[in-house]
Amino acid sequence: MLASGSRGNCAVVASASTKILVDAGISGRETFKRLKSMGEDAHSLSAILVTHEHSDHIYGLVTLAKRLSIPVFMTGATHQAWARALRDEHGEKPRLDKFERFEAGYRFHVGDIEVKPFTIPHDAADPVGFTFRAEGVKIGIATDLGYLPVSVRDHLRGCDVLVMESNHDLEMLRVGPYPWSVKQRVMSRVGHLSNDALADFLMNDYDNNAAFVVLAHLSEQNNHPEIARREAEKALSSRGGLFQNRLLLASQTEALAPIQL
Ligand SMILES: [Zn+2]
Ligand SMILES: [Zn+2]
Repeated sequence: MLASGSRGNCAVVASASTKILVDAGISGRETFKRLKSMGEDAHSLSAILVTHEHSDHIYGLVTLAKRLSIPVFMTGATHQAWARALRDEHGEKPRLDKFERFEAGYRFHVGDIEVKPFTIPHDAADPVGFTFRAEGVKIGIATDLGYLPVSVRDHLRGCDVLVMESNHDLEMLRVGPYPWSVKQRVMSRVGHLSNDALADFLMNDYDNNAAFVVLAHLSEQNNHPEIARREAEKALSSRGGLFQNRLLLASQTEALAPIQL
């Protein structure tokens, strides 16, 4: 997890031979820097996958795609929305030299990594989460979603690493500084997942299978890492899962140490 939160999201999923960047929401320069801090070379990346067109997921995309000359995978609708939003003053749309289209619900491969995109409820054109499979390991990433529909819960079964949104504490959001319209958006069915909603999933639906659970996309205004951790720990321990589950928190400001399986 290179960065996670409303100021930029970026993660790396790698097998022995393939390395994928999931979202490019921090600047190209910062992406290079954080990869280097983990001992990774940006030039060894095979592809960039984009979950949706919000700027905290695509901010560094054009720079990175150009500098690395690697394919960028998006759904058709996300690509359109992205291109429309980034038109310059002459109405000229940005270009990706190597654009690859995928469709939610249909798996595809990048090198030896099998990618399964799935639809998530969020206020973007065609937002997706991903599961990745390689070398007998399954990784699931689900952030930027207003709630956890049954279909999403199904996709997240059997994951060895589960990256889940734990965006806000409901009480902090309620009394916090956001205008009411923004609070409503965050809390809505197409907004962001609360600590409570995640805890409910961990307590009642999660299969207790993951070696690592990573809390992601924490709000800096409406959450506190210790509150998010406590809620998730409470939920996991009620399942007797605290000891086999390692709970990690992704950060906005620095890369998380690589998780190796
Ligand atoms: Zn986001
Ligand atoms: Zn978003």
